[in-house]
Amino acid sequence: MPTAIWGEPEPERNEAYPLATLKQLVHQMMGHFAAQGACLALYDTLLGQMVIRLHVRLRNGGAGGQPSLSLSTGQSGAESVHRVGRRTTINLQDPSSSAVGRLKRTPGLQEELEDVPPLPGSLFPVGSRYAPGQDLIGYTWRENRSCIMEHESYVYAFHGQHKTPLNLDIRPYWYFAAPIQEPPLAQEESGQRAAPQPQVLGVVVLYKLVPSPGFDLKQRQEVHTFTERMALYLENHRLRQIQRRTSEHLQSLQQLSAIFPSTVNLAYLLEQVYQFTRRIVDVSAMLVTLYDRDTRMIYDVYAVCDGRPVEGLPTESVEPRTRRQWWRVTQEEKRTLLLSPAHLRQHEYDELLQGVWGDQRQAESFLLLPMKMFNRVIGSVSLASQRPNAYRHEDIQVLETMVQIITVGIENARLYERSRRLLRKARQREESLAAMNSALQSISLVLNVREMLDNFVRAVANLVEAEIGVFFQLSPDGQELIAQAIYARSNKGASNEALSFMHADSEKERELIEMIRLPFKGSLLERMASEGAFFYLDGTLAEELAQMASEGGAIFLRETQIQRMIMIPVQYQTELMGLLSLHTPHQDRVFQPEEIGMLLALCSQAASAIRNAQLFEQIQEANAELQRMNTLKDEFIVTASHELRTPLSAISGYASLLKRQSARATPQQILRFASKIAASAQQLSALVANMTEAANMDALGRKLELHPSPVELRTAVQMAVSILSINIEQEIQVNVPEDIWLYCDPQLLRQVLTNLLDNAAKYSPPDSQIEIRVREMTLGEVPLPEEQVDHEALIEKGADLPVAVVSVCDQGEGILPEEQHKIFEKFVRASRTLTTPVRGSGLGLYICRRFIEAMGGKLWLERSVPGEGSIFSFYLPRTSPPPEVREQEEESASDHDEPA
Ligand code: ADP
Repeated sequence: MPTAIWGEPEPERNEAYPLATLKQLVHQMMGHFAAQGACLALYDTLLGQMVIRLHVRLRNGGAGGQPSLSLSTGQSGAESVHRVGRRTTINLQDPSSSAVGRLKRTPGLQEELEDVPPLPGSLFPVGSRYAPGQDLIGYTWRENRSCIMEHESYVYAFHGQHKTPLNLDIRPYWYFAAPIQEPPLAQEESGQRAAPQPQVLGVVVLYKLVPSPGFDLKQRQEVHTFTERMALYLENHRLRQIQRRTSEHLQSLQQLSAIFPSTVNLAYLLEQVYQFTRRIVDVSAMLVTLYDRDTRMIYDVYAVCDGRPVEGLPTESVEPRTRRQWWRVTQEEKRTLLLSPAHLRQHEYDELLQGVWGDQRQAESFLLLPMKMFNRVIGSVSLASQRPNAYRHEDIQVLETMVQIITVGIENARLYERSRRLLRKARQREESLAAMNSALQSISLVLNVREMLDNFVRAVANLVEAEIGVFFQLSPDGQELIAQAIYARSNKGASNEALSFMHADSEKERELIEMIRLPFKGSLLERMASEGAFFYLDGTLAEELAQMASEGGAIFLRETQIQRMIMIPVQYQTELMGLLSLHTPHQDRVFQPEEIGMLLALCSQAASAIRNAQLFEQIQEANAELQRMNTLKDEFIVTASHELRTPLSAISGYASLLKRQSARATPQQILRFASKIAASAQQLSALVANMTEAANMDALGRKLELHPSPVELRTAVQMAVSILSINIEQEIQVNVPEDIWLYCDPQLLRQVLTNLLDNAAKYSPPDSQIEIRVREMTLGEVPLPEEQVDHEALIEKGADLPVAVVSVCDQGEGILPEEQHKIFEKFVRASRTLTTPVRGSGLGLYICRRFIEAMGGKLWLERSVPGEGSIFSFYLPRTSPPPEVREQEEESASDHDEPA
C-alpha cells in the first residue's frame, strides 16, 4: 500500500504531491464549509484508483462549536473563529500558484489540525484505495459531481450488510464529497494523443461532527471554487514536475547527443541508450533492432531482459518476411506504437513481444519507437514495462527525441562499420592476391608433375577455403578422368574418412587415388565442361555420375557428401587437360565471384605449368633412356670386340698354322683347318650381319624389306637344325608335321629359327635336349602374354585367322622372372650369375622379334623357370600350299589311292 509520510522529502513518484499545500487548501475548505473533518483522495495513475492521501480533523474534533475559516475572496464566511489556542502558521511554499497566491494573501489563516491515524476499519484511513463506484469516494469519482449525504445514508449505502463495517471513534453527521476535476486547459494540451488522463484528479470529502446545520445545496455550488483551486494547484504542480523532468531529460539528451556522433562503438552507444531510457521511463525489457539496407536483413543488436542486458545475442540476421508486424509498423506505417494491457492481450502484436528479449506478452506497457532517418526507418527501439501506463505522452516525446539523436549516431556507426568491412574486404583481397601469388609460385617452380599437382590442389583449396580439392586428369584416350592429386583440408567429420588414406605418400596410395575415375566421354561432365568456364555438380548430378562411374569414382562421389562441388576445366590452349573440383562436404556452397576469378586464373596458369612439367618429364625420360642406351652401347662395344676377337683369333690362328705347315700338312689336315677358318668366318659374318641389321632397324622410318613367299615349315626347320647341329653338343628334336605352309620371308624365318636354337644351345648344358615343335591354332587361341596381344591384328584379320605357333624348348638355365621382360631389348643380356660367361651381343632376340613382327606375327617368352629351361615361341599366319605343290600332292595321293 503506498503511503506518503509527511515531512519526508518528496519521493520521485507519480503519486507524490506537495501535501503541505493541499492540506492548507483542505483546511480552508473545512473552515468555509464549517466541517470538522476532511479527507483528500487523489488519482494514482499507476494504480488507476483513488488513494486517500490526507485525512485531518480539527484538533479537538470541533466538539465545542463550529470552526470557521474565511477566504479573502469573501465568497462566504467573512469572519473566522479560531477555537484552538495553539496556532500554527502554515507557510505556503509555492507563491507562483495563483490559487495559493490568493491564499497567501488571506490573513489569519491559522488553525491547528491533526492527522487522523489510519486505523483498520476507521473512516477514510490514509492510504486506502478506491475503485470507481467504491465507497463515497469512488462513487463521487464515477458520478463526477458533488454529493451531500447524512451519516445513516452513508453507512447504509456503503457499509451496509455484506460491506465492511465501520469502526468509528467519532460520530459524523454529514458528509460532503466533491470531485476535483481536471482543468480544461490541461485536457486541451494533452489532446487526443495523451495516455488516458483521469477526468477527475481527486475527491475531497468534508464531514461534520455536529448534527446541525448540515451541508446545504447552495454550498454544492460554492465547492467548485475550492476544488478548482486544488485542481489548478495539482495541475500546476504536475506541469512543473514535467518541466523539471524535461529539463533533466534535455540535459541527458544533450550528453547523449554529445556521445553519439563522437563514437562509433555501437555496443557502447546502445548501452548509453538503455541507461538514458531507464532514467526517463520504467523499462523491464528493451530491444534494439536494426534493418540493414545492404543485406536487406534484420538484426537484433541489443536486448535487455528483466533489467539485465542479454549477453551473446545471436549474430544471424533474419529476413524481413519473418517479422511481418515489425515490418508493417516500422517500414509501412512508420509510427510510434504504444500498447496498453488491453492491446497487449489481443495478441495482434505478439511477434513484437517475443524474441531475444524474452517473452513480453505479460507486460503491462509496450512502446515501439521507429528510428527514422529522413524517409527511411533504419530500426526500432522497443520498450516493455511491467507497469500499466508506464509510457506517458511527455516521456514518449523525450524518447522520440532521443531516438532521433541516436538514429544519426547509429547510422554513422554502421556507415563506419561498412567502410571498415569494405576495408577489410580490400585487405582480404590483397591477402588472397598474395596467397594466389604464392600458389602460383608453388606450381610454377615445380617440374615434377605429381608434386606440382599436389601443390596446385592444396593451394586452390586453401585459397577458397574448400575442404576437399581433387585434380582429375583426362586419360590419353579422352574416355575418363583419373584423379591425380587429392587434398582434404581437415580430417573432421565422417565425410573425409573416405579420403583419409590420401595423406600418405606411398606408391600404394597413389594407386588408390588413381582408382578414382569419373566417366568423361559422353557423360554430363563432357557436356558441362564444354559449356562454360566452370560449373557446379550438386548431389543429384553427382549421383547420376556415380551410376556411370568406376567403383572408386562412385565411392568418391557418394562418400564425400557433395552438396555443391565446383568443377573447373583446366585447359592448355584448346586442349582439355583435366578438371579441378572443389567442395566442402555438407555445404551448399556458392563461391564468390572474386574467388571464381582467382580459381580460373590459377587453373589457366596451372594448365601451362602442368604441360611444362609433363614436357620436362618426357625430356627427362628420354634423357634417361639415352643414358641407358649409352651404357648399353659401352657394354656392347666390350662384348662385341670380344665376340669379334674370338672368331678372328681362330681364323688367324688356323691361317698361320696352315701357312706354316702347308708343306707337310696332309689334305685331311688342310681340310680341317680350312673348315675351322670357314666356320669362324661364318660366325664372324653372322655377328656383323646382326649388328648391321640392328643398326639398320634403328634408322628412323626404315622398313624391313620383305620377300615373302609360301614356306614349308618343316623344311625350313630342318635346314636351320642341320646348319646348327654341326656346332652344338645338344640333341635337337624336331616335332614339326609336314605340310604346314607359312607365308613369310624364308630368309628371315631361317634367321629367327637359327637364333632361337642357337640361344637354346648356348644357355643349356651339353647333354640336355632341345625340342622344336609346332601347334596349329587360330589367332584368338594363341596364348600370348597380356602386353603382346595384338588387338589391331585381331580386329583386322579376325580371331580365327589360322596361325602356326613354333616353340623352341630347352632344358637350360632359364631366365630370372625380373629379367624376362628385358631380354627382348637391344643389347640387353641377362645377368650371368647362373652359369659361366656365354658369348653373345644381346641383339639376337631384339632382331628376331622385329623380323617376326614385320612378317605379321609375334615372338614371346612363353615360359621360363630358372634351372629348368625356357620356351620361346612365335606365331606366323598359315597359308595354303602353292598350286604346284597341291597338284603334286594330289597326284601322289591319287597314286596311293590306285587299287593294288
Ligand atoms: P645374346 O644371346 O647374344 O646375349 P639375345 O638377344 O639372343 O642375345 O638374348 C638376350 C639374352 O636372353 C641372353 O643374353 C640370355 O641371357 C637370355 N636368353 C636368350 N635365350 C635364352 C635361353 N634359351 N635360355 C636362357 N637365357 C636365354
